[in-house]
Parts: sequence; C-alpha cells; structure tokens
Amino acid sequence: MSIELLIAPPAAGKTETCIQRIKTVQFSQPLSRVWVLVPDRKTAVYFRNRLAASGGWIGVMVGTYRDLYRDILERNGVFTPTLTPALEHRLVQETVDEAFECKELVHYASIKSKPGFILALQDCFAELRISYISPDRFFKYTQTSTPARHELAVLYARFVTRLQELNWIDQEGQIWLAISALEGNPQAAADIRLVVADGFSFFTAALRRFIKLLSEQAGETLITLPGVLGSNRPVHRRTRAMIEILQREFAPKVSELNSSPRLPTDSLYLEQHVLDPYEFKAQEASRPIMIEARSQSEEVREALRWIKELNKRQHLPMSACAVFASSLETYQPLLRATANEFGINIHFSHPDPLAESPAVLAVLNLLSLPQVDYQTRNLMNTLHSPYFNLGLDAKMIEDLEKVTQEASIVKGRDQWEDAWKMLEETGSDDSDDVDEDRWHEPITQGIDLATLRDAFDRFWHLFDSITQACSLAEWVTWLEELLEDLHFHEKLIGERDHEAYESLGEALKALVLSESVAGIRKIEYTHFLSDLQGTIAGARLDEPRESRKNSLLVGGMVEARAARFKTVALLGFSEGLFPEIENPDPFLDENLRRDLGMESRLQREQTSIFYQAFTRADQYILITRPYLIDDGSPWEASPYWLAAKRLFADSALVKIKADTPRAQAEAASAQELVFWGIQQNSLDYQTDHDLVTRWQAIQKAGDILNLRRSKVASGPYEGYLDQVASILAAEYSSERIWSASRLETYGTCPHEFLVSNVLKLTTKTLPELGMDAIQLGSMLHRILEKVYLDASFASDTQYLLDKLDEVTASVFQKAPFTYGFRPSPLWEVEKDQWVEKLQQTIQVLEDESQGWKPVSLEQKFGIGGTPALALNLGSETIRLHGYIDRVDKNMRGEIRVIDYKTGGANLDKAGLESGRRLQLPIYALAAQDALQLGEVVEGFYWKIGTAAASSLKLSKYKSDEDKGPEAAYRTALAQIRRILAGIRSGKFPPIPPKGGCPSYCPAAQWCWRYEAGFSI
Ligand code: SF4
Repeated sequence: MSIELLIAPPAAGKTETCIQRIKTVQFSQPLSRVWVLVPDRKTAVYFRNRLAASGGWIGVMVGTYRDLYRDILERNGVFTPTLTPALEHRLVQETVDEAFECKELVHYASIKSKPGFILALQDCFAELRISYISPDRFFKYTQTSTPARHELAVLYARFVTRLQELNWIDQEGQIWLAISALEGNPQAAADIRLVVADGFSFFTAALRRFIKLLSEQAGETLITLPGVLGSNRPVHRRTRAMIEILQREFAPKVSELNSSPRLPTDSLYLEQHVLDPYEFKAQEASRPIMIEARSQSEEVREALRWIKELNKRQHLPMSACAVFASSLETYQPLLRATANEFGINIHFSHPDPLAESPAVLAVLNLLSLPQVDYQTRNLMNTLHSPYFNLGLDAKMIEDLEKVTQEASIVKGRDQWEDAWKMLEETGSDDSDDVDEDRWHEPITQGIDLATLRDAFDRFWHLFDSITQACSLAEWVTWLEELLEDLHFHEKLIGERDHEAYESLGEALKALVLSESVAGIRKIEYTHFLSDLQGTIAGARLDEPRESRKNSLLVGGMVEARAARFKTVALLGFSEGLFPEIENPDPFLDENLRRDLGMESRLQREQTSIFYQAFTRADQYILITRPYLIDDGSPWEASPYWLAAKRLFADSALVKIKADTPRAQAEAASAQELVFWGIQQNSLDYQTDHDLVTRWQAIQKAGDILNLRRSKVASGPYEGYLDQVASILAAEYSSERIWSASRLETYGTCPHEFLVSNVLKLTTKTLPELGMDAIQLGSMLHRILEKVYLDASFASDTQYLLDKLDEVTASVFQKAPFTYGFRPSPLWEVEKDQWVEKLQQTIQVLEDESQGWKPVSLEQKFGIGGTPALALNLGSETIRLHGYIDRVDKNMRGEIRVIDYKTGGANLDKAGLESGRRLQLPIYALAAQDALQLGEVVEGFYWKIGTAAASSLKLSKYKSDEDKGPEAAYRTALAQIRRILAGIRSGKFPPIPPKGGCPSYCPAAQWCWRYEAGFSI
C-alpha cells in the first residue's frame, strides 16, 4: 500500500538494499509473494544470482514487467493471445488498406504499400501504446492538426479497434490489459507482499499508471533510481526529472543511501566529477584507462586484446566481462571478426535480424527477382548463390554472365529471348581480329548456346504460377515447394544457416497463423512478398545457447545499466558516434510529443547513459575511441571523452600510433603476432615453424608492395618477365600478323599489353543501357562508308547530306540488333546529335577535300586475300593487316588516307612519337606499298565528334632529320622496333600514359600504378 523511492548513485548498494528488504519480508512472512522487476532478462539472471548468493530466492519472482502483466492477467482469468510480428505486420497492412479503400488516406496514399511504412507505423503504434495515449485522445488532438497527424490517428484507431475485434493484443498493449485488470479488480494483485523495481532510470506513462495501481494493492513497493537527491550535476539530470515526476504522481516516501559507490578508484573519480564544470586536479590513474586508436577496427582490437589479457593473466571469466558500444551496428561486424580471430567467445545482447542472415537474404533476393524485372545484377547474384541448385553448373553460370555482357541484357525475360536470337544469328560471324577500336572477339564464342538456353529455361518456370492471387497459406506452400525444388535445405552451410532456416520456418508458420486469425483473403504475389518481408524484418536470429557459455557480452551503450561486470570496455567516444546524432521522428514530431507528454526523440540525455555505462565495472574500466576517419583526417573526440580525460594525468591515456612498439608477447592472435613481427622486422618465436613460414610469406608480400611503391618500376612483380623472354620471342615472332591496335596497346602502356594480350584477361562489367565506345565507333564508320559508297557523287555535298538522312535512318533502326546494345532512354536524343555531327563532318570534310575523291572505303589489307603490309624493320620483316577507313586520290594520282575517330585523344605528333597512335603511317604505307594505290602525300585522323582533322598530318609532319610522310614512316618504324623488342624481351612495366590510364584497361580496377584522367 506504500511506495518507497530509494535513491543512490550506481554501485552504492541499491540492489543490496532490495535484497535485504526481500529477506526481511520473507523472514516475517515466509510464504508471501514477492516480485522483483528488472529491465531485461540479462539483469534478471544477474539479480537472481545475487539473491542466491545472499542465501536463496525461493518464492521470489524475478522478471520483466511483461512477466508480471502475464502473471496478473492469468491469475485474473484473462488469456488474450499476443500478436506475433507476422500477425502484427499483417494487421497494420490491412488497417492501411482498409483506410485507403474508405478514402481516409490521402497524405500517406503514395507510400501505403511500402514495407518501410508499415514497419514505421508499427513503431509509432508501439510508442503511443507505451505512452498510454488512447486512440480517442490521439484522435481528438489531431482533429484540427495536419493531414499527416490526422491520418496517423485514423490508422491508430483502426488498428486498436481491429485488435479488439479479434480479441488479440499487441506486445505493448499488454500493459493496457494489465491496467484494466487492476482497475477492474481491487484484489487482482493484493496477494503480492512486496514489489521491487530495480535497475530502471525511466518509467513510461503506461508503466507509471501500472505501478500506481499495483502499489495500491500490493503490500509494499520499492523503486530504486540512480542519482543523488537535490543534485544539479548534468549526469543526474535525467533521473532528477524522473524523480520529480514520480514524486508528483506517487507521493512516495523518499530515502537515500549515504554509502559511497563501491567502484574501482578510477571509476569512482569519474563518477564523482565527470562533466562537472569546475576545475580538478588531474589524478594519476591506476593503469591506462583510455585508448585512442587510429580506426574503429583498431579500437576494437585494442579493447578485445585488453579483455583477453585480463582473462588469461588475471583469470577473469569472460562471462564477467562486457563491451558496450555506441552505434553498435557499425561495431558489430568488427567485434565479431576480431573476436573470432582472437578466439574469444562473444554473444550480443540483441540477436541479429533474421533478414541479415545470408541464407534468408538469398531467399529474399530470389523472390524479389520478378519485382525488379529480373535485373541482371540481382539475377546473377541469385544464380551464383551457393544456396540454390538451379541445375546450372559454375561453367554454365559463367557462360550466362557472358551472354548478358555480349547481348547487353540489363533486365527482363524479353531481353533474354532477343539475346538468344541475336547471338545465334551472329554466332557464325568470323570477323578478323584487326582493329580493336572497332571490334572485339565475341566473348560467347565457343559456347553451346542452344544447350545453355535449354538449361536456363528451367529457371523461368520457377515463377510460372505467381500471376494468380492466392491465400497466404497457398503462397507459403508454394514457397516451401520452391525451396525444396532448389534443394535449399541441403545447401545450407553451418549451424548459423540451419538456425536461420528454422527461424524462417517459424516466420512462415506465423504468416499462416495470421491468416487463420485475421481471415483468409486472396492476395497478389507482390502483397505476399511484402507480408513476408515485414514478418522477416521483425524476426531475430537467436544465437545458440551454447555460444553464451562463458562468453563476453556485447551490447549497445544504452543497455549498460543495472547488471554489473568485473570488466567493462566502452567503445566509440568520438564525435557522431557517442553521443549519437539524434534525428526528429518524422511521424511523431517533437511538438506532438511535448503536447501529449511523450518522451522526446531529441536530447535523450545521453549523458545519463554515459554515467550508467562507466559505473558498470567492479574492477576494470576501459574507454576507447578512434581518432582518425577513413580518409586519414582527424576525428574529433566526443565531449564525454574530453570530460573524462581532463580528470586524469597523461599516463591514463594511450594513443596507438603506427610506430607504437608492441611487445610480441602481448599479441592476441597468431595473425597479430606475425603482423607485429613484420612491422618490427623480427619474429621472437623462431622455433615455431608455422609462425616462421607465415612471417616469411608476409615479408615477401611486403617486399613486393615496397617494390610497387617505388617510383620506377623494376623486377618481376612490375612486369619485367625476362625469365620467359624466349617463350615471348617465339610467340611474338615475325611469323605473326600484327594489327596497328595491338602495337598501340603496348605503346600506350606495356603492362596493359601484358594483361590484355599476353594474359588475355578481361574485365567483367555489368551490362548497361546504351552503346559502348566500340559499338559507337563501328556504327559511325558504317554510316560514313555507306554515305560515300557512290564515289561519283563525292563532291556533291547536298547529295551526301540527303544520303546521310537515308543511311542513318536505316542504320539507326537496326543498330541495337546489329551492334548488340540496348538503347537507353537517351537513344532518340543521341541519334539526333550524331546526325548533326555527321552532317558537320560531311560539310567540313568536303571543304577540305577540294581536288580529292574517295577511291576506296573500308579498304582491307592482309584480310580476305588482300596483300598484307610487309614492313622491313632492318633485322626482320613483319606483316600487318587492317582496314583503311578511306583512301582519296587527286588528279595527279596521289593518295590521301583518312582514319575516322570518334574521340580526339592522342591524334597529334606526340601520339605518334610515343607509340600510342601508329595507325596513320601504317595505313598510309599499306595503301602505298601493299595495295599499290599510289604515292601517299597526305593523311590525317578525322575527329567525327568535333568535325575536324587531327593536328597530325602526314604532309606537315617533321622529325629532327626529315619531314613529310617519309619522316612519319621512319618514326613509326622506330616505335614498332621498340615495341617488338619490349614484347619479346618481356618488358611490361606499368607506365600510366600521359593524361591518365584508359578506363577500358583491364588492369584499371587493381593496377597499383593506375592514374585517372583519360578520356577517349
Ligand atoms: S592501369 Fe594504367 S598503368 Fe596500369 S596497366 Fe593499365 S594503363 Fe598501365
């Protein structure tokens, strides 16, 4: 019948006082009911252990508030089933659908089917419930408010009404039932002799109403709160506000414990002074208690190494240690990986979301394929997934990927159908590999397309039946059969996957259950998928019980309360991590929260969380932070870090730097030991064969890295392959027929030649809409060839322009099929732009062609029976082949060669003299010597994009000794000699070309000397 508020700082004996009070009650009334309420299950275990250590706890119920509601309701004959996440998702979705059908939803209409909206509504409803705000009150408040708020109130009212119709209750609504049970029956909790609420620092409105009613029936109610009565310190602000509310609403008897907190010296000093505005003498810490590391990853390593050291050297059990981190989602993968490396058993306070399990993610990706129209990226991910047997082996999947690239399949089954047809028709094309600017070897060559297509057809049938609306139970059956068909269960990898599979099964059961509760209805596939995603989003993947045995607890900073540990490490004391950046709630905004007395989303008193966190440790405390962000710039310290730092002498802080020497005996894993050994250039454990082998291998890798970092490339790891020079000399002998493009590749960068021509590596790129540079170049060449086909009209500009219209119309129409690309939405605009550029080309070229007439277009040499160009290099003669875009003749029978280029890079003298552009002199020699078309007096590249000739013109070319075409030939021959010598002697150093590396270089994604900047 009485409420007592017991206030004391953390670790000052509040829990001990509670236990003594329980013992007193049990001593005087041995069979009386006692309830101890704590914030969570972990704290319940901790409290029970303390109770047991003090002499026993038989008859004392220790649990969360939910346990007590259930107990009260059951004792009062109220058995209301609680919503599962699946059922809740379904009801909220239904609520939204019905409101929309009744035209009550306008503001939120456009997002009504988004899974994110349904999840956000679930959170909103939950918060309204725990804030004890009835639908009526919320409705009245929003009647004259914005449409957004009003529609939220409509949805909330509909949701609660639907729950009442079904006679189910939501998780947060349980307290409403418990309150009405207490209101309706003054004896509902009268047999409880003592209620203790320990470990809380905040009570929601619903909870306060419940406690008030409970205390009117129970014998005694004892509530503890951390803090100091009358304190104005910032660390006590949150509890001070709570004490004031409880005093106002409960009129309790308030008492305070006067004992000093039983904390280790350093934590005690923090507890007494941190964040106070006045000056203190910096205290010597008993040992370093703060570590600054260069990154979050290094910070995690430092913290876990510190814990492992205490575990091994001080024999502290892992179960007595805890790590709390702000922004746990960013730290979780780092903690998991590092703990794994260090051999530390850890468990997280919150199990991972089921939706993040790789197996479940694979299923969701598979199911979402029809929704994204089988986008190639998603489709290939599914085909590569190890979780499904789709009847396709690795080679077939690789081939399918090649098909997507060759036929530019971006998405959709239609594109696949077109692709098969196109590839079958072009499969017989045996073009010669002569000009890499305009042709590449089909990557699907050699693939049995018909067999591949048949094998892949099975995949499309997986989704044959999704066009019909079905009940949830039917959809679940379909999914189960689909997974069985794909041997999903047999493909699961390890214990975690099997647990995920079981949890997925539970989620599917919950979906079926939701239908039996809320009624059967036929829904479309999209709707089913949304229900499934919503159900899975609310489900968690429990960790196996085994993993909790003697394991380190990892939790969010906000969870560092109530329970105590011997050792606690707190992570993330840098700006933006802790205190966390708070964002206002877009649905329940701050004004609404203030008006309805709800907890603010902003200024959540993270100071109090910090205060609670560092007072959790009974023996050792460590606070850490990263001091550099990813790009190497400084990361500001959090105000809490600065506040802690100013209390201690410098020796309390360790800053880890790249050159901080580490004792190898302190290494927490073999990996770390070897790494430190490399840094220090010596390994302490020379008798350990395994360690020494690893150390040597990494040292070698380090040497290679150092070589690659040196300014000038040298050695075998930089493309100097003189050991295989004899093989290369044989492979690239004078027997080979060369193309100008091949030689130019070496001239551009020898390493690019090694990667693309010797090793024949190619890059995998996802197909994109639109043409690539090769397709565009081929198309423009084809158009110009057709326009100038009838040479007799070559000087009639109007005729040529009319012809251009006719040719472009026909070429553009067939272009996607001919060149194998998918037109982008800009295709229509691009066509107009290219027509305009080609018109300019014809006009300007005609002006520059007075006295010249085309005599040959797309002239082959060394191909299809035409003579190859034999180049006498002095010590040998090599042969070349290719296509000359255009050969003109004048009245004197002299020759001019033109080579069309889409872009304008390196078409100058320097391009020739560096070996990057050799086509023009080679083609001129081919026209003159191989094809005997006449003496070449002129030649240039023609830039279609800018309708201009290149600055390099054969007639104007000058070398140190000579000028004109002959001088250009000599320069080209010198370059060809240099290139051949380089290839045959195995010299392939990576030398980024002036102006940057070409984006199409197959090494561009990983080359250590890559330089950006090149454009075609
Ligand atoms: S990325 Fe640059 S330096 Fe490296 S191989 Fe390619 S072109 Fe050469």
